[in-house]
Amino acid sequence: MEEKSGRAAAVEWEYVTYAPAGVSCHVCRRGFEPLVPVWRGGVGAAAVYRHAVRCPWAEEL
Ligand SMILES: [Zn+2]
Repeated sequence: MEEKSGRAAAVEWEYVTYAPAGVSCHVCRRGFEPLVPVWRGGVGAAAVYRHAVRCPWAEEL
């Protein structure tokens, strides 16, 4: 089921929450400001996060 060529592994975004300390956005790779809503998702066993509203630093997505 997973695409293994050309792209990063697909993330399944599960719910909006607040990012724990020390994580950074999966899309724009920046850290999060405190109390900013983020999408929590998973890639395999790893949890990843992205800005929920819009990545302030991402050119797209
Ligand atoms: Zn972001």
